[in-house]
Amino acid sequence: NPLNQYIGRFAPSPSGPLHAGSLVAAMASYLDAKAHQGLWLVRIEDIDEMRTVPGATESIMQALAIFGMQHDGELVIQSQRKPLYQAAFDKLAGHTYACACTRKEIADSRLGIAADGAAIYPGTCRNGVSVGRIARTLRVRVPASNENNETITFNDRWLGPLTQHLATEVGDFVLKRADGYWAYQLAVVVDDAAQGVTHVVRGTDLLESTGRQIYLQRLLDLPTPHYMHVPVVLNEVGEKLSKQTGAQALDLNNPLSELLRAARFMQLQIDHADSIAEFWQKAIADWKRRFGD
Ligand code: GLU
Repeated sequence: NPLNQYIGRFAPSPSGPLHAGSLVAAMASYLDAKAHQGLWLVRIEDIDEMRTVPGATESIMQALAIFGMQHDGELVIQSQRKPLYQAAFDKLAGHTYACACTRKEIADSRLGIAADGAAIYPGTCRNGVSVGRIARTLRVRVPASNENNETITFNDRWLGPLTQHLATEVGDFVLKRADGYWAYQLAVVVDDAAQGVTHVVRGTDLLESTGRQIYLQRLLDLPTPHYMHVPVVLNEVGEKLSKQTGAQALDLNNPLSELLRAARFMQLQIDHADSIAEFWQKAIADWKRRFGD
């Protein structure tokens, strides 16, 4: 990105329609891009094809249009970019290994549970899959506790300075899954770099992934974007909204009230707006005031 232009993105997974939670992530990334006179890209993260719901991409794109959020450039679709993920994986040779362990075996080793709920991998297959066992996944080695670079530190624009210790908090992580699909962590790093993304704005539900992504950027010699993790909308029992936890569909007949609700959630100061255009004008001004440059 030789022009030093701000490039941001919204990267929904098409596992269902846009809901109150994903609208907040979309809005935050859109406002930050507009406040910086930047580009706002949309990328469909359908790399986990098991979770892709037919029609969800169209429904998300239609909702964004109704909310007056127009994206720049072409829509990028991860399922069409597998050769790029393979090429990145090949570049990581020497840092990766095949692994035969099942989820149950890893859980049984009781090394602990990473913040994203997965069991921490004990490194069983680091020096090779034992005879008679079949490789299931491909993993990348993280630095051991006594090695350099074991700690990843970054300055989150919403939360402040943060540190993640990959060896004890995450362990060697999966790049290619047992079902044959590339992992989100690899695809997102490849695509953010390929699209020249300078600023990632997304929900705190992805905070635990950022250390892994910065680690992969370093191994692949890719720039690290600026990160901002915004609060996530939870349901009454404290779960992240999703189709599984019963997220209500947005009322696309009243887009202005949905926009105002999402803005209120992020504590933007907008008393009222008579139109979608006026809403964005006020929201961008308030975002600028809070997060300027
Ligand atoms: N596709 C991810 C999700 O919908 C977001 C990825 C990202 O913003 O980095 O949860």
